[in-house]
Amino acid sequence: MGTMPPVVVIAGRPNVGKSTLFNRLAGRRSAIVADTPGVTRDRKDAEAMLRGRLCRLVDTAGLEESAPETLAGRMRASSAAAVAGADLILFVIDARAGITPADRHFADWLRRQGRPLLLIANKAEGRATESALYDAYALGLGDPLAVSAEHGEGIADLMREIAEHLPPERPDSEGDDSAPLKLAIVGRPNAGKSTLLNRLVGEERMITGPEPGLTRDAVAVMLHDNVGPIELVDTAGLRRRARIEAPLEKLSVGATIGALRMAEVVVLAVDAVEGLHDQDLQIAKLIEREGRAAVIALNKWDAVADRDAARRAVADRLETSLAQMKGIAVVPISALTGAGIERLLPAVRRVHGIWNTRVATAALNRWFEGALARHTPPLVEGRRLKLRYMTQAKARPPTFVVFGTRAEQTPEDYRRYLVNGLRDSFDLPGVPIRLQFRGTT
Ligand code: GDP
Ligand code: GDP
Repeated sequence: MGTMPPVVVIAGRPNVGKSTLFNRLAGRRSAIVADTPGVTRDRKDAEAMLRGRLCRLVDTAGLEESAPETLAGRMRASSAAAVAGADLILFVIDARAGITPADRHFADWLRRQGRPLLLIANKAEGRATESALYDAYALGLGDPLAVSAEHGEGIADLMREIAEHLPPERPDSEGDDSAPLKLAIVGRPNAGKSTLLNRLVGEERMITGPEPGLTRDAVAVMLHDNVGPIELVDTAGLRRRARIEAPLEKLSVGATIGALRMAEVVVLAVDAVEGLHDQDLQIAKLIEREGRAAVIALNKWDAVADRDAARRAVADRLETSLAQMKGIAVVPISALTGAGIERLLPAVRRVHGIWNTRVATAALNRWFEGALARHTPPLVEGRRLKLRYMTQAKARPPTFVVFGTRAEQTPEDYRRYLVNGLRDSFDLPGVPIRLQFRGTT
């Protein structure tokens, strides 16, 4: 979990050899290669290791079935979603057939997308292709790389070029399983945050430690569970507040947001004796707004008289008031006695994994087709919305983009329908889900 390889999209008109190239790069004979142009095939996704860099390859072949009149229009419509999520585009032309008007139109459009791009002249085995290579320069997409996907010529050089054009490996925790998970504990004053922190760290010294000052604030509190390190962020702020705050002090929204921004996962400590307070929901909404994953620690469980009633009340309140974080884990604990604590970090790990989820484009669009069929997009100003493709633009939190004609006019209730469907179908509880809409013309 946690890895997000860069996305390499193979685009070009039908029959130039995209699927053949995909197979060659993916090292498998998985895509169906066909002699008939435009044969309907699923878009293929595969992870490939190219020169030591893991990437996700996306083959856009077979996307040319639907709608617009011109070939170039069809290519554009069908590739828009894939191209929008691309870290690198491989634009393939057929060096035997030469550059066609459709290639030129598509090249113009691709250039306007402003994505890193490599121009690939395929079917360049032998020597009969030099005039096509010359024409390819004129596309204004840089030097064409001559390859033969079928015969494997030029593929090693191409792999090196791809690896060099991928975005640099991220220096932060993203995609690195050994980097600590960044965790913050937030909640209302007196919910038991400091007690919980102490319980997790297992020592009293964190809170009663050195005198106030810069060095103390810089101390990182590191835990280890059976998966790896967990860094508790903003513990300095937590300690400071714990010392100064009188129990009745108001929630400090500014400090809470500060903690959220440093964290990947947030534990929202709630006083179970008091139940879910408006302020707790206010914090949960901040967590959603900041795009963080969350777990609710229902603290002081030892002091709750009617546990069934307490559990039900919290569930009801979440259901009615926090639909944006549907399915959020609620873990009853006693920070004071330690009861239930062993279930907290596993819940944190689980939601961190969900937060990092990447859904394969093919699976996403299979689902999307079904969702559109089950519940037809509504009319907007008398005209039906035409939603076409969906792609996951990023993770952390899962962020999806829907493409279609006037897609940006999609009304709120239909957006909600799609978000709920995504959450259920791809099992994404307890994290915010972002859904964006982009109109294609
Ligand atoms: P796509 O529609 O762009 O995915 O193209 P395909 O991968 O299905 O290939 C279309 C046709 O071109 C097939 O008959 C392939 O065998 C052929 N082809 C693919 N790569 C090469 C190549 O490097 N050289 C030659 N001569 N033919 C190729
Ligand atoms: P903070 O303001 O959120 O950091 O809360 P503290 O950790 O300072 O705790 C506030 C009060 O609640 C203290 O008196 C704690 O002893 C008490 N408390 C914290 N956790 C529990 C718990 O699990 N059970 C009970 N009964 N009391 C707790």
